[in-house]
Amino acid sequence: MAAALQLQTHPCFHGTCQLSPPPRPSVSFPSSSRSFPSSRRSLSAHVKAAASSLSTTTLQEGIAEFYDESSGIWEDIWGDHMHHGYYEPGSDVSGSDHRAAQIRMVEESLRFAGISEDPANRPKRIVDVGCGIGGSSRYLARKYGAKCQGITLSPVQAGRANALANAQGLADQVCFEVADALNQPFPDDQFDLVWSMESGEHMPDKPKFVKELVRVAAPGGTIIVVTWCHRDLGPSEESLQPWEQKLLNRICDAYYLPEWCSTSDYVKLFQSLSLQDIKAGDWTENVAPFWPAVIRSALTWKGFTSLLRSGLKTIKGALVMPLMIEGFQKGVIKFAIIACRKPAE
Ligand code: SAH
Repeated sequence: MAAALQLQTHPCFHGTCQLSPPPRPSVSFPSSSRSFPSSRRSLSAHVKAAASSLSTTTLQEGIAEFYDESSGIWEDIWGDHMHHGYYEPGSDVSGSDHRAAQIRMVEESLRFAGISEDPANRPKRIVDVGCGIGGSSRYLARKYGAKCQGITLSPVQAGRANALANAQGLADQVCFEVADALNQPFPDDQFDLVWSMESGEHMPDKPKFVKELVRVAAPGGTIIVVTWCHRDLGPSEESLQPWEQKLLNRICDAYYLPEWCSTSDYVKLFQSLSLQDIKAGDWTENVAPFWPAVIRSALTWKGFTSLLRSGLKTIKGALVMPLMIEGFQKGVIKFAIIACRKPAE
């Protein structure tokens, strides 16, 4: 994988996208082992210590295999956006509303971050970090007439994302490849919009993740992270309660997640890198109807038979869906958005 990939010269934008799944990432991942935080005095130590019980390599292989296996069934039933929908609290949620709610999630995130609709100021170069099968990238590329590059650990996702872009006449605008968000294959200062929609929870090293997002952002560019967090800790707390940690561990195990951090941990990380206009929001209430809807879709004949055919990792993921609802309801899991701007030069 080329270390310095220029947007202008990327083969994808000249119509030569690789449509079959690209090879596994050639990047090598440092291994890390579990060590629980014993103190919150140093944010970096605390967040960094939130590493997986698995080595980073094993974790990333698990993520790739999980999405290789489950992306087809998700697309079949839910379409090309692999993220929560956004709902007005208390609104009536009819069965057909969910795909629209996923688009609303994208729109609300852009609005929260104050992304300009003005043709002169809207984003022209976008990176989609943890792109799935490219739902956000294609949507943003169309909306803004922008060029968008997506990265994922899953070769199947990258191949499918490129195939969909080609089929939709977007091959000159969007392009996907297998690459690690913690070692992105892009030069510094590239993107007007750095977009991470529900990928941050997979990152075993949050400081490195945030540093990479900031590195590839253009001066004056906006970073949007929409992610699962655990609740903020109280002033006298050093860690979550054991029952809370146990709940999260079961979810981590099924979805290939390392340990979680809180929204305020993200804010502190962006502050430590002198980012501007840092805003954080708690959208937990806005996503409440989502998991019940996913569970209902899994219980339809189509959902159930597809699930049985999909494979063990996907079935294991489906079995912990009720724990996500429990985590949200008990206030342990927060659905967070963090947006900020890299200082202009
Ligand atoms: N943002 C997409 C997909 C969300 S699913 C959407 O909203 O539709 C999580 C995605 O994060 C998957 O594509 C997974 O491959 C990706 N991911 C997880 N860890 C990653 C890493 N270290 N580097 C790149 N992508 C990663």
